[in-house]
Amino acid sequence: MNKKDIIELIENLKKSYPDATCSLDFETPFQLVVAVMLSAQCTDERVNKTTPKLFERCKTIQDFSDIDITELEELIHPCGFYKNKAKNIKLCAKQVLENFNGEVPHTMEELMTLAGVGRKSANVIMLEVFKDPQGIAVDTHAKRISNLIGLSKHKEPEKIEQDLLKILPKEYFKDVNHLLVWHGRNTCIARKPKCDICSIKKFCNYYSNNH
Ligand code: SF4
Repeated sequence: MNKKDIIELIENLKKSYPDATCSLDFETPFQLVVAVMLSAQCTDERVNKTTPKLFERCKTIQDFSDIDITELEELIHPCGFYKNKAKNIKLCAKQVLENFNGEVPHTMEELMTLAGVGRKSANVIMLEVFKDPQGIAVDTHAKRISNLIGLSKHKEPEKIEQDLLKILPKEYFKDVNHLLVWHGRNTCIARKPKCDICSIKKFCNYYSNNH
């Protein structure tokens, strides 16, 4: 796909989803770090139902570091993988306090030194908190849609991201993160893509091979 086509594809998605934004609720940078961790293998909707009570109990990063692990596990239980997530949240809070003076760091490299924060999470934090997207967060939707359209043949998120970065102009990084998620949730649904109403079908390999 050439640059003109990819821009048209993104513009079509923007028209389809003019309100596409991050769907995790947060007020502080560290709250987003926590919400992103909780969202692994869990819907954003469930995370948003879980975090109000959690953020009420843990108002500061110090609170997240100090909370008893069993209490934290109970609070985040609905999001699944709660033992691992609780361990990472506590350790991450301690690292932010000890290594970054209590402030969520501002670079991909530093963010990825935190427990439970990989490249995808760091991309989300750079975009949503610092409004400085460095790459593209490849989640399950971005992965599936990139493969279906033919933007990447790879299965590994890091390789898919590299393929996307090669063809996407930087000014679109901020949009594409949200647009692929919204397209995956609303139209290019995993088990039953609604190809007939899809605004980017003319660019899609899957569509041209099956229609
Ligand atoms: S045409 Fe179908 S498979 Fe292709 S992106 Fe659209 S909904 Fe997904």
